[in-house]
Amino acid sequence: VCPRVVIAGRPNVGKSTLFNRLIGKRKAITHHVAGVTRDAVEERFSLKDKLPVTLVDTGGIMAEPGGVFDPLVKEKAIKEAEKADVILLLLDVVDFTAEDEELINLFRPFEDRVILVVNKVDSPQREDIAWNFMSLGFSSVCFVSAEHRLGIEELEDRICKLL
Ligand code: GDP
Ligand code: MG
Repeated sequence: VCPRVVIAGRPNVGKSTLFNRLIGKRKAITHHVAGVTRDAVEERFSLKDKLPVTLVDTGGIMAEPGGVFDPLVKEKAIKEAEKADVILLLLDVVDFTAEDEELINLFRPFEDRVILVVNKVDSPQREDIAWNFMSLGFSSVCFVSAEHRLGIEELEDRICKLL
């Protein structure tokens, strides 16, 4: 079976942008599956042109205002995490919310397969801010700009290391 790489995170952190960036033009078959809160999208592609993986865009794990998750949403997110070989927990470098904190707590038990991906690190100023995310205590942290294609190769290397 193909290893599963799951992109998780609250809406608007850049999951779909990263998904498209990673698969690039190496597009295979796309299909929709029952997702966490919206439809998830998954697609098979060759990571670094050599390693077949199934990449999953969870479509956005959503909380109620104030960052509290519905127990059902939580349960589905945990199920998704259990099925994953690698979890890319995506955060927005300039917009860290209570919802993000909830998700971090939710995925912490799966730490050994989590890469904390700080997205939208588009400038040196933003890179300065990104270093603050190191204090969250994840052993694998990566700064990227999905939109500007920065840090993507390092992220791919980190994914390979976990597989
Ligand atoms: P999703 O809801 O998590 O799937 O997020 P999207 O991929 O739809 O992106 C949400 C917004 O963030 C869009 O307006 C994107 O253009 C923007 N975005 C995504 N990646 C980056 C990035 O690397 N830098 C910046 N500045 N914006 C980004
Ligand atoms: Mg999306």
